[in-house]
Amino acid sequence: MPAPHRSIRTVITATDTMEGAGFKVRRPFPTRRLDQVDPFLLLDEMGPMDLAPGEAKGAPDHPHRGFETVTYLLSGEFVHRDSHGGGGSIRPGEVQWMTAGAGVVHSEMPSAAFQATGGRMHGFQLWVNLPRAEKLSRPRYQGLGGATLPTARTADGLAEVKVIAGEALGARAATATHTPILYVHATLRPGGRLALPVESGWNAFAYVFEGRARVGREARAVPAGTMVILEDDGAEVLLSADGDAVAQVLVLAGRPIGEPVARYGPFVMTTERELVEAFDDYRAGRMGRIPAGVSREEA
Ligand code: MN
Repeated sequence: MPAPHRSIRTVITATDTMEGAGFKVRRPFPTRRLDQVDPFLLLDEMGPMDLAPGEAKGAPDHPHRGFETVTYLLSGEFVHRDSHGGGGSIRPGEVQWMTAGAGVVHSEMPSAAFQATGGRMHGFQLWVNLPRAEKLSRPRYQGLGGATLPTARTADGLAEVKVIAGEALGARAATATHTPILYVHATLRPGGRLALPVESGWNAFAYVFEGRARVGREARAVPAGTMVILEDDGAEVLLSADGDAVAQVLVLAGRPIGEPVARYGPFVMTTERELVEAFDDYRAGRMGRIPAGVSREEA
């Protein structure tokens, strides 16, 4: 019988890096040491940063193929546009789950209103791999508004979850995923404790982004900006608050796809040859272009 709580495999401090047109992100992975946590390919924390009017930056037109980008915004406002006419705005508390599939060219820019007012920008982008058989699927968007993402609390009310994919504390998200995934935003008040069931065989990690939290069977206290990867040796991921401040944590878990990963920039395939095809298709315009005037293009 497995131990109830998963133990800690690795603790990783996120590194600061620049993305898009020059906004700072904290990135726990990929790094030279850790290229993925199958099926997850990347996690970026955007901000938190306080922006003056006109200061907000985004990521102008760029392509993707072979995976999904999941944007979760806590503060600020973004507008995504793509070459198939898809996209939409993302407001605080909302998630956009984009399946790039066979390929899109898209832009991720601050909304005109947020650009004008400035303010606090904070959010996450997660990249989720697709199984080889689904890498060339039709691009698809799931715009998940605040009300469609269920929340639940522990009986003592000290721990709360917002469920972005999968199920926690009896709350189930309606989000469709290509492989089974758990994506939870946990808020732990002082004294709060949470044990999230995770299937045996799934990879799992926690990313603390505010305050300090205790993670894993060892109840190791880690500060914001820390990712804790858990062993596959228990039925639950254990989290608790540390000290008298609120801790906020993302918990990600998923069934590994277990296929080779060939990645270069915005393309994630299974072979080098498929990467070359992706570049060729992009250069030939086969992933489309965003009509002029719809997004601000960089010359
Ligand atoms: Mn993108």
